[in-house]
Amino acid sequence: MKILFVSSEIAPWVKTGGLGDVSAALPLALKAQGLDVRVLVPAYRALWAAFPDATEIARPHFLGGQLPTCSVRETITPEGLTLWLVDHAQSFDHDGNPYLDATGQNRSDNALRFGLLSRVAAWISSTASTLRWQPDIVHCNDWQTALVPVFHRYLSAGIRPLSRTLLTIHNLAFQGIFPAYTRSELGLPEAVWAIDGVEFYGALSFLKGGLQHADALTTVSPSYADEILTEPQGMGLGGLLHYRKDALTGILNGLDTTVWNPESDPYLEPPFAAYSARRLTGKKQCKAALQSRLGLDITPKVPLCGVISRLTEQKGLDLLASSARELLHTPLQLALLGSGDATLENAFCALAEEFPGRCAVRIGFDEALAHQIEAGADLFIMPSRFEPCGLNQMYSQRYGTLPIVRSTGGLRDTVRDALEPDGCGFVFEAPTPSALQQTLLRALEAWRDKPSWRTLQKRAMRRDFSWRTAAKRYTEQYENLLQSPPTSDIPLSRAVARH
Ligand code: ADP
Repeated sequence: MKILFVSSEIAPWVKTGGLGDVSAALPLALKAQGLDVRVLVPAYRALWAAFPDATEIARPHFLGGQLPTCSVRETITPEGLTLWLVDHAQSFDHDGNPYLDATGQNRSDNALRFGLLSRVAAWISSTASTLRWQPDIVHCNDWQTALVPVFHRYLSAGIRPLSRTLLTIHNLAFQGIFPAYTRSELGLPEAVWAIDGVEFYGALSFLKGGLQHADALTTVSPSYADEILTEPQGMGLGGLLHYRKDALTGILNGLDTTVWNPESDPYLEPPFAAYSARRLTGKKQCKAALQSRLGLDITPKVPLCGVISRLTEQKGLDLLASSARELLHTPLQLALLGSGDATLENAFCALAEEFPGRCAVRIGFDEALAHQIEAGADLFIMPSRFEPCGLNQMYSQRYGTLPIVRSTGGLRDTVRDALEPDGCGFVFEAPTPSALQQTLLRALEAWRDKPSWRTLQKRAMRRDFSWRTAAKRYTEQYENLLQSPPTSDIPLSRAVARH
């Protein structure tokens, strides 16, 4: 079976969050299942730097609209994954965040950039393609690639789609909404401008178009798949998702155990140290090294809590900011790495100033420090208001750093409370500072009982979060898809969005 996996991020080269990690690991896991996988991503500057010799294999151009002619280049990663790069310098040959400009604003040409990515994927999987390889399934990810099924449906001039489409929702909060005139710029016909097309409250929504037209939908945890069928978690698309619920499945993300493994993590070079569930001594060394790196008091006697996150309302870190001052008066250290809302950044920086040696805050994106926090902390805090899957709570369990999470989405599906049989985390329900605070105090109490803490750590470290399970579930989805009629056979009148 041939799979074209289309994404706007791929770790380690271009990553703003979980999507980058997933796009690197899942295709490899699918390949290990025996599938023939190509990953289509934009040729960002970081990818050019890594693969300067990528060779041109096609030069698609598109009629109508303003999508530019581009080329598709092929390269192979050191892990043996075939990457197809969409090369259009003006759109993608830049440093930094793939969506934002240097001032932190959305790039003004995002609709055209990701419209181009989607259009190229639709071209590759249609009779127009000049490539010899054509996918059975196009696996799309988030709004940036959600127009693939829309282009499929509206391909014209005798061009036919040859593949089925599956769209994975990694986060419904990002929908790709643009002004109405974008439709003609993208070369989409007037027929798409309908309640059962891409129109969304007078604007054009990439994600809505994909949710409407993809043959199958998945999201990244079973709990999130249930939550998004209703508002407010449906983010305005709950009605449509409810309508398509038979096509929607929740498949938990895995974690890349080659990248996130405390036994072989290259970011844990001295003064950090490798460790395993059997030999936890290296973890103590990691704690001291982290305290030293961050200017915290170097002591094993105070529990160290880690946070690595986008600083946004979604992640619930305002709950931590509100309770941290009181908590930091108890014996506790906090190490936070993240960036995002200025108010939250300022609140945490103020705490770091107020509690030197107890609270360290680093604003920015730092892969090495993220690994070192996972290894050096005792506890990991993730109080998300909603969380499609979340990766850090899985990384932290693998690193013996017990997670404190709110019971939502993927956090609910991957963390069991220590009070339950086989549990090894700390879970709270209400999105309030006091619920977080009480649970944190409960976790600190558990930390003081060293023998049972080690039992919990070992239990956490031995949990299986590998991608293999997810790759099998996706393979089943692909197989089912190939046996059922395409969504494009369903009359449009039945595919109605309710909003
Ligand atoms: P989301 O995708 O919603 O941001 P996830 O938990 O699914 O959240 O994935 C976040 C990923 O991004 C993890 O790999 C995490 O370590 C990483 N990450 C988030 N913020 C930072 C940061 N400031 N520096 C380094 N890595 C980060």
